[in-house]
Amino acid sequence: MAFLFFALPLQAMSHLLLQPHIFFCVVLCNIKKKLRCLTHRAATLTAGEIRSALAHTDLDKMWQRDLTPLLVTRYPGTAGSLAVQQHIKTTLGSLEAGWSVTEDSFEAQTPYGPRTFTNLIATLDPSAKRRLVLACHYDSKYYPPQWHGKEFQGATDSAAPCAMMLELARALDQELKTHKSSSPDLTLQLLFFDGEEAMFQWTATDSLYGSRHLAQQMESTPHPAGADDTNLLHGIDLFVLMDLIGAPTPRFGSQFSSTSRWLTRLQNIERRLHSMGLLIDHPADVQYFWPNMPVGFVQDDHVPFLNRGVRILHLIPTPFPSVWHTFDDNEENLDRSSIQNLNKIIQLFALEYLNARPIDPQNPQNAP
Ligand SMILES: [Zn+2]
Repeated sequence: MAFLFFALPLQAMSHLLLQPHIFFCVVLCNIKKKLRCLTHRAATLTAGEIRSALAHTDLDKMWQRDLTPLLVTRYPGTAGSLAVQQHIKTTLGSLEAGWSVTEDSFEAQTPYGPRTFTNLIATLDPSAKRRLVLACHYDSKYYPPQWHGKEFQGATDSAAPCAMMLELARALDQELKTHKSSSPDLTLQLLFFDGEEAMFQWTATDSLYGSRHLAQQMESTPHPAGADDTNLLHGIDLFVLMDLIGAPTPRFGSQFSSTSRWLTRLQNIERRLHSMGLLIDHPADVQYFWPNMPVGFVQDDHVPFLNRGVRILHLIPTPFPSVWHTFDDNEENLDRSSIQNLNKIIQLFALEYLNARPIDPQNPQNAP
């Protein structure tokens, strides 16, 4: 993999070097694009703005509205999968911010024959040039019939992360609506992948069905509309993948140096919310985000995007939850405190990344 990574750009550059003016333009263009993303500055909300922004997140509502409907058998092509898709579409469709939700449906060969997979893509403002992407996989792992009688819920894998994304959209509905109305350059996009899990055994072709397809689709879709040298992948400022979240005290380390500053930012948010007393069962100021903790490479839905040059922040705990890929990965073993705390941290991260300031009731003249 490392060889391919470095060999391809060098080969491409050797052709371009023969035509210096093209080489210069392409390099300049790429540098500009990279700089815009690398130098992106997030806002830092005041304590009043933070309290106002996080006033609407509600774990009980999330549990009831978003998590429970996801805790069903939902491997590709099942009735549960269709119900979950419908739930995600209905939830986002009911919000005032006005999400544009599209489907990426396709058929792929699996060890059990051809199957239909469906990714869901929700974009706050499809006309915006740049996107902060939050992603999860909504499919559950398939267990063959000898396990009949037992149901694999995949609560951390990844019902909880998907429910957290829906809760973010619901809790920040007004803030996102206001942000969208200012026609910003940068918007929010939510990706719900199908077919992350291997149907039989993890291989390059039996895994990541949805993300492999969507990365390819996005790469071949010009963006902004009509562009001839940029596509939807170029529009991704940062791709945040959430997986295996919901067990007690997760620890997130740094996999990619290109995005470690955003992990540092999450740690900073964790510290700020801790000092404001907004986190529960959170004894030390840092429990979750460890930008100086190097962690190994993990195969997951980010890989097809990473291989195409997208910047990735992979929020997957090290170690994995002890219940991973067992029938104990169920609702009973979810840790409410860490889910609630992470909801707040990730919601604030999204708002600050987008530079979306809520109305501070103490200081209404600061309204956007
Ligand atoms: Zn899994």
